[in-house]
Amino acid sequence: MKTMLKIEKPIHKIADKISSKEMDAILRIQSCALKAIHDFMYSREILQLMPVMLSTITDPLCHSVYDAKIKYMEQELMLTKSMILHKQMALMSDSRKAIYIISPNIRLEKEECKDSGRHLIEFSQVDFEFKDVKKEFIKDFMEDLFISVISRVKEDCKKELEALGRDLVIPTKPFARISTKDAIRLGEEFETILSEKATEPFWLLDHEREFYDKEHEEKSKVYLNYDLVYPEGFGEALSGGEREHEHEKIIERMIRSGTKPEHYTEYLELAKHGKLPKTAGGGFGVERLLRFLTGKKDIADVCLFAKKPGMKVLI
Ligand code: AMP
Ligand code: MG
Repeated sequence: MKTMLKIEKPIHKIADKISSKEMDAILRIQSCALKAIHDFMYSREILQLMPVMLSTITDPLCHSVYDAKIKYMEQELMLTKSMILHKQMALMSDSRKAIYIISPNIRLEKEECKDSGRHLIEFSQVDFEFKDVKKEFIKDFMEDLFISVISRVKEDCKKELEALGRDLVIPTKPFARISTKDAIRLGEEFETILSEKATEPFWLLDHEREFYDKEHEEKSKVYLNYDLVYPEGFGEALSGGEREHEHEKIIERMIRSGTKPEHYTEYLELAKHGKLPKTAGGGFGVERLLRFLTGKKDIADVCLFAKKPGMKVLI
């Protein structure tokens, strides 16, 4: 069946939104949050890399999206869904310990996401990765980063937050940790239910996901990964994990998750020759962070040029 794209707003309404005072406040908060992120990364000696936007390989994701490919001469290239595989490869150098990228991602999400309030088909992730660290290190790091961003926005954007009617609470460390194996008792919508009840961000642990998230050495189907979830119903902020780097295990996990190894030939070749380092990391969406910081329910309201699933792109 052919899908009809909907027009969310006529172009003059989009123009009003782009030029509004509210958008001025939102963009100022975005600028402040990004500055806080860069300062934090720099203070921890984390190298900023430039994004990769075209490649023969990208994240297979654990949910289905339409493929975004372009043909360049005789080669078909994919638009980046996340930089996870490139983050692993970028850490092959002995002297590089930690990296981050503000990475533009194209994910042509299905129509069912159109009213979620948190899905776009084009967004940016703050994607970071460390060598030779475990999941507890990453959670601690992310808690510090998140607290530092909220504190800076609260301090430097008082006027803007007031104009938006947003009162931000600085969370306390350590954030709560909840296993998805326990949370599932609440039903499939456990993340939403827990997020709506929460007043502080929390971690959801151990999801079955893509081949690159590491499985426990002894316990099968226990995964060394984590999601950070915003309170007040804002839902998922970040996904991350310790990564699989051993060739045989990657293949096993690809087969289990229905990913075709033949699409990842060169990446697997590197793994086979022991070139992939042991890493852990995560990525959080800039627009979702801004949605939380500004208290806006619809992610499109915090983007100058929002592209929502199922909606016609006008400009
Ligand atoms: P993932 O690894 O798929 O969880 O993506 C990492 C992060 O990017 C998520 O935790 C969200 O903050 C953000 N994100 C993922 N998909 C989207 C989307 N379609 N629109 C906006 N942000 C997204
Ligand atoms: Mg996720």
